[in-house]
Amino acid sequence: MTRIAIPEDSPFGLANLPYGVFSTPGTAPRVGVRVADSVVDLAAGLGDDVFAAPSLNPFMAQGHARWVEVRERVLDLVSEDVPDDAVHPLDAVTLHMPFEVADYVDFYASEHHASNLGRLFRPDSEPLMPNWKHLPVGYHGRAGTVVPSGTDIVRPSGQRKGESAPTFGESRRLDIEAEVGFVVGTGSALGEPVSADDFDERVFGVVLVNDWSARDIQAWEYVPLGPFLGKSFATSVSHWVVPLLALEAARVATPPQDPEPLPYLREKNPWGLDLDLAVSWNGQVVSRPPYREMYWSPAQMLAHMTVNGASSRTGDLFASGTVSGPAKDQRGAFIELTWGGKEPVTVNGGPRTFLEDGDEVSITATAPGPSGTRIGFGDVTGRILPAR
Ligand code: CA
Repeated sequence: MTRIAIPEDSPFGLANLPYGVFSTPGTAPRVGVRVADSVVDLAAGLGDDVFAAPSLNPFMAQGHARWVEVRERVLDLVSEDVPDDAVHPLDAVTLHMPFEVADYVDFYASEHHASNLGRLFRPDSEPLMPNWKHLPVGYHGRAGTVVPSGTDIVRPSGQRKGESAPTFGESRRLDIEAEVGFVVGTGSALGEPVSADDFDERVFGVVLVNDWSARDIQAWEYVPLGPFLGKSFATSVSHWVVPLLALEAARVATPPQDPEPLPYLREKNPWGLDLDLAVSWNGQVVSRPPYREMYWSPAQMLAHMTVNGASSRTGDLFASGTVSGPAKDQRGAFIELTWGGKEPVTVNGGPRTFLEDGDEVSITATAPGPSGTRIGFGDVTGRILPAR
């Protein structure tokens, strides 16, 4: 038997207990929970085959009451001696995609980010479009190219605006978007909108997202239907899904909304999350975006996504859009941080604007836990490979 040592300041203590999918040499991927620097095999530890699946989807589909029950059982399990065959050191396992992405939606919920991009893309008009404060703007992304942290990102090629005609070639303005993603646990039927107040029943947990973006491809293609190939080549997510149940202490009020949104976007108790993100570029922190600044709440995004009767499914991922705060060093995309490339930042001693081949970007986050503790999200990391 093993008693897992948990340092007092571990962001993966008993208040967190995030879920992931791991394998060990010679064994198939299955569900585990991270405790400090160990991974606990839940199929072995709890004797429940739902955790022998290579994704969280079958467990998430069992619904909110089960999420609560299992969290209590996991807490009991890891607070005592754990059978040796159910505990693995984190550095001895391979981590995989934690859930099977059903549909992927990407929002645009930061007023700071939307205003900055408006100023950059449309300098002669109002920074926010007339719809922005009435609905959480979003688009449907590509579920099949959502990849786990650690996956290399091949620089995309495509059409770029030219002097008189477009040119084809590799993206020269490859960027990141530091976002927070929400994973739907139990879906909703076609024709049945989800109330904003049902968020806790529906949404299982939270991941970190890097929505890689090719700004030159995006700028040429996005009119009038929105993002397409400039976004769809890859979206990275973190390995650990932090349960919503671990984030009670991280809830904060959302910023005041003026004008008041339509009734379907109102919540009894509107809340956001007090997540502190950090963006590292080749190991150097260049930005610290605060999630608490986000204008639209997670529940408003889910309500909006389904208000037309669109169904939702176990494994749906909806991301917040770039998280940016009011200060320059709180901007979650390099196009914003470097003001379209005009104001380079210093990385590893040199001026930088967009991503170069070989660059590595890592986004991390922590949030308040109970009694002054911190909840960790791990990281979402990717390295840029040359175009093919
Ligand atoms: Ca995005």
